[in-house]
Amino acid sequence: MISIVVPVYNEQEALPLLFERLSVVGPTLGDAYEVVVVNDGSSDSTAAQLKLIHEQDDRWKVLSFSRNFGHQAAISAGLYYSRGDAVVVMDADLQDPPEVLERLLTKWREGYEVVYAIRTNRKENVLLRMTYKLFYSILHRIASINIPLDAGDFCLMDRRVVDVLNVMPERAKFLRGLRCWVGLRHIGVEYDRQERQAGRSKYTLPRLIRLALDGILSFSVSPLRLSSWCGIGLCGASVSLVILIVIWWLTDVTVWGMRPSHSVGWTSIVSLILLLSGLQMMMIGVLGEYVARVFDETKGRPPWIISGAMGFDDVSYGTQPGWFVRPNPRGGTPK
Ligand code: UDP
Ligand code: MG
Repeated sequence: MISIVVPVYNEQEALPLLFERLSVVGPTLGDAYEVVVVNDGSSDSTAAQLKLIHEQDDRWKVLSFSRNFGHQAAISAGLYYSRGDAVVVMDADLQDPPEVLERLLTKWREGYEVVYAIRTNRKENVLLRMTYKLFYSILHRIASINIPLDAGDFCLMDRRVVDVLNVMPERAKFLRGLRCWVGLRHIGVEYDRQERQAGRSKYTLPRLIRLALDGILSFSVSPLRLSSWCGIGLCGASVSLVILIVIWWLTDVTVWGMRPSHSVGWTSIVSLILLLSGLQMMMIGVLGEYVARVFDETKGRPPWIISGAMGFDDVSYGTQPGWFVRPNPRGGTPK
């Protein structure tokens, strides 16, 4: 069986299109399939639409979060509750065309455990495209594993890979990195990234920055090393400066029209102080980012809370790591 995991957050405009396209592509895949939709705390009519879709086609299963836990958490939950031998992760907005699934599956049937889709042609604006490019090349360069350039979450993973991801206790899962970290055989398939078919992007700039930081900080300690290297460099520079100044005093020669017995001015001193204290603050900030992540992981809170499920028969309440809240006995539709 093939599982298709789709995280959705306020996608009322895109859902009907997705249902239509997947219902055409699904039966051509050559195996039975299920679609695991994770409703990430949507506040529009997404939940109602998902109910209708599930009633129409019970291959569509729905998990609802008690609130918005974020894209990566939604994907993790989808992976956790999918049952397929191959699991595909795709967005609801049809930026990842379902027609590419067949090519991903072909590679999987050839024996690859991870088939990721590489975006050859983005349809976003120039500035965003440049930022993405910069991020991926930094990540590629400094990450401790070989993360491919320009591969998003759209991918296919074998059950063996998904099982490994599911037992990882990590909360801030950066899927694009982790699926490489697992190893086994990987291959990329190129595709044209489409424009969003309906609705608006749910990734605001701060969210994108947070995702980018998660990616870099959970796969690399280079930012910490950078601060050590800066410290060493600055110490070296100041020691050499002191030596030079002592020599200057001893020889009392004129440099750039100045002699040591004359005042040198305070602008240079103030700007140096500002530069150095700025650098120190920045490095403390870098350290803080790591500490914050350690803090987050040690609290051990569940990465998501599920408040409702449709189409699953084996989800038991209170299982780790996905926590459930029991249905409200007084009724009411879960959020
Ligand atoms: N999404 C989600 N939770 C969030 C934000 C986004 O489940 O907090 C889903 C969203 O519904 C979509 C996918 O993640 O299916 C990718 O989001 P989006 O298309 O907004 O991101 P972009 O493609 O613009 O990077
Ligand atoms: Mg999108």
